[in-house]
Amino acid sequence: MIGYVLQADGSFEYRQVEQQTPSGDVVRVAPVFVGLCGSDIHFQEQLLPGVEHPLALGHEIVGIALDGEHAGRPVAVDPVEGCGSCEVCRAGLEQLCASLVVIGAHRHGGLTEEVGVRAHAVHPLPDDLPLQVAALAEVLAVAVRAVRRAALPEGGTALVVGGGPIGVLIAFAARALAGADVTVVETAERRRRFAAEFGFRAVDRLPGIGDVAQQSSQSLHDAVFDAAGAESVAPRLTDHVRSGGSIVLVALYPDVTGLNVRDVVMRELNVVGTRACTAEDMRTAIELLNAHQQELAPLVADVVEPAGMAEALERMKRGEIMKVLVDCRGISAGHL
Ligand SMILES: [Zn+2]
Ligand SMILES: [Zn+2]
Repeated sequence: MIGYVLQADGSFEYRQVEQQTPSGDVVRVAPVFVGLCGSDIHFQEQLLPGVEHPLALGHEIVGIALDGEHAGRPVAVDPVEGCGSCEVCRAGLEQLCASLVVIGAHRHGGLTEEVGVRAHAVHPLPDDLPLQVAALAEVLAVAVRAVRRAALPEGGTALVVGGGPIGVLIAFAARALAGADVTVVETAERRRRFAAEFGFRAVDRLPGIGDVAQQSSQSLHDAVFDAAGAESVAPRLTDHVRSGGSIVLVALYPDVTGLNVRDVVMRELNVVGTRACTAEDMRTAIELLNAHQQELAPLVADVVEPAGMAEALERMKRGEIMKVLVDCRGISAGHL
């Protein structure tokens, strides 16, 4: 079949690809929209190991199920595939499987005519949820997982560092699931404005910190989410969380990075990582999208044809826009 693939030099072209299909109960999905995200930029810049080119990107997939229980219906795909039999997989944490395969990273993703997905990773969508909004399901599920990892108290406060799509969705999920009062830290002005339009307090830098003990309790949060992954941020994360609170590490640092572990001990901070999402997070995300579809729709800044992808990724890198979707329906007509 035809795919729109990323080449080793970072460019894209239409190519004949062979889709690998997992074993077991598999559903064929015809992608309609694929969301672009920061990971796609990493794949393009070859920053993540284990990714081989040429590769059809696309791990945030919504489309139409071609067979199986939901045949003919709109579905969202959970792109994470564990082995299904190890301890973490059996515990419902496939994203932690040692033999993890991610659709659109380790095998061809949504930018193809068809993707084979294991039946349990295909999530049916409500009929009245527009597919463009539903395309946020996977990324919102990642945000839902991050918020669940934080164990925020009801009505608590949260600081989200990084106001890109994932940061804003973490802020949204913290408010929707825990009634949290959220502050977003973002350096790019447009994104800050966007976060403010969502009703979050938006600031351009981490507040200056003196002695934490002298701070008012209001400037310390129940949870701090690091969705930025900037080298200068990690050592300062503990300064913004209350004693006994949580630091949730969302962004992937390229290297070993400093965290004030003395502070972690002295103030009993909970430091947790969060990776991808579980099936339950996907179901919660779809419910949230359905309930808040008008509110979340503006997150999708643009829908482009495959040919517009390279430029869209550039604009994302510059922090100019939030989510961009690629319309995959023309791929079958792609030129070879
Ligand atoms: Zn993504
Ligand atoms: Zn496994």
